[in-house]
Formats: sequence, structure tokens, C-alpha cells
Amino acid sequence: MFYLFKDFTQMKILLNKTSLTKSLRHFSDIGFVPTMGSIHKGHLSLISKSNQTCHKTVVSIFVNPKQFNNKKDFKTYPKNIKKDLKTLSQSKTVDFVYIPKFKDIFINNRKPKIKLINKDKILCAKFRKGHFEGVLDVMNRLTDMVRPTKIFMGNKDFQQFFLIKKHLEKKYNTNVVVCKTIREKNNVALSSRNHLLSKENLILAGKIVRKLINVKKNIKNKKNKNKYLLTVKDGFQKQFKIKIEYLELRDITNLKLSNVINKSRLFVAYYLNGVRLIDNL
Ligand code: AMP
Repeated sequence: MFYLFKDFTQMKILLNKTSLTKSLRHFSDIGFVPTMGSIHKGHLSLISKSNQTCHKTVVSIFVNPKQFNNKKDFKTYPKNIKKDLKTLSQSKTVDFVYIPKFKDIFINNRKPKIKLINKDKILCAKFRKGHFEGVLDVMNRLTDMVRPTKIFMGNKDFQQFFLIKKHLEKKYNTNVVVCKTIREKNNVALSSRNHLLSKENLILAGKIVRKLINVKKNIKNKKNKNKYLLTVKDGFQKQFKIKIEYLELRDITNLKLSNVINKSRLFVAYYLNGVRLIDNL
């Protein structure tokens, strides 16, 4: 109950590893929300969960160059620290914002790289070579610094959540919690990358999600579900003039291809006007 009386007027901004370590040393029940900034309501929902369940909430903002398999994608990734700090402060749910520099994360700390096994080289891992190795590397380092009781992650990036849970939960005795995807009114999942889309593209993305929701409903009656999805993929590419990397039904307990609806989700990644969007339904 004492969380109700927390004073958030003093959201602390930590700009290096030393100040992070100093500020967190007295706290044992820390909720951690790692982000790449361009804060939106999806991020705020994770922060709110952390605030409700943990004594202190730490949000990190770090656009990790090591997880970008495409230089242009890294360069154009939306950044707006000033606006982010205002949003986080106004939310009154954040105790600490950690904005490290590259050297705070990667220098003076030689950690063995976490490698993906072949079985995990599916979905985004198949199409973005080195991406999850970069994500796991930075999450390994951040978790080591923050030592959180809980890490809050979005369901939109389910494969990311799945791999972080698998590799870091036991290692750091933390609990990796998945939170529901927050969407625009037209059903498009909120994402920092949506800033790169035109209004027309956002409307089109809405149409695509709604069609996919219908596909998920229809799939129940199909004998070979993933074969059916190959035809859907073809049709969508032609109709919407988009490039779909994958459209697959997978079991959320192990991410294997699935032929049953139960405990499965429809995973999609596609390019809309050069912007890569992912979702699962
Ligand atoms: P990012 O800043 O894109 O790296 O995302 C930081 C965290 O926010 C990740 O755990 C994401 O899964 C989560 N996230 C991103 N978009 C959403 C959303 N629309 N709803 C809920 N969580 C999200």
C-alpha cells in the first residue's frame, strides 16, 4: 500500500553507471523497464505495472547500436530525449531514468556473448542476423547493473521477451514479466517506429491488422494452418504492396510452428514503405 504515497516529483535522471550504482544500492525491490526511448503509451503501461508491484521503478533509455543489423535503421531510429523525460516525469510513475552512454554499457566489462542455438533462429532471428545477440548482450549488461526483482517487457516483441526470459531469468534471479500490447484506436500496435510512417501508411497498417484478426478467426477451420498462411501471405503482399518476412502460427510456450489455435499466436513481420513492423495476434 505504501506505493500510493510515493513521491514522484523527484524523478532522478542518471547519466552514467556510477550514479546508477550509487542511487540503487539501498533498494532491493526494483522493477526495470528497458526501452530505446521515443516513449509511448506501450512503454507507460509497462512502467505502470512496475510501479504497482515494485518498490522502485527504473526506466532505461538506450538505443543499442549492437542490435541493429541495418545502419540506416539505427540512424533513423526516432530519438527525442527531452520529450521522453517530460512524459516520464509527468506520468509520476518513474523513480529513476537511466540514460547511459555507449561506454557505460560496453567498456571495461568483458562479458561472454550469449549465442542463439539453431532452434531459436526463427522469426525475427532468421531475418535480422545478430539482432537478438545484440539485445541479449545489452540486457545481460543492464540487468547486471540494475539487479531488478522484475523486468517488464511487451508482448508485441514476444520473441524478445521469450529469449530474455530463457537466458537471463535464472542467471540474475529476476522475474521477466510479459505485458499486453497497447494499440492505437485502429488496432495498430504502438511502436516508436510508427513515427516513421505517414498518415496513409498508418491507416493501411490498421487495415492489415484487422485483416489478420480475421485470418486468425478463419484459421480454426483450416487443416494445414501454416500452409494456408503461405497463401494468405502471398495475397496480402499483392493486395497491400508490402513485403512480408513471415506470417506464422507458433506455440507461445516454445515458439515451435503450431497447427492448433490453443496457446498459439499468429506472428507477423512486414515492411511498409521501408519501415519494418512486427506484431502477434
Ligand atoms: P522499445 O523501446 O521498442 O525497445 O520497447 C521497450 C519495451 O516496450 C519492450 O519490452 C517492448 O516490447 C515494449 N513495447 C513496445 N511497444 C509496446 C506496445 N505497443 N505495448 C506494450 N509494450 C510495448
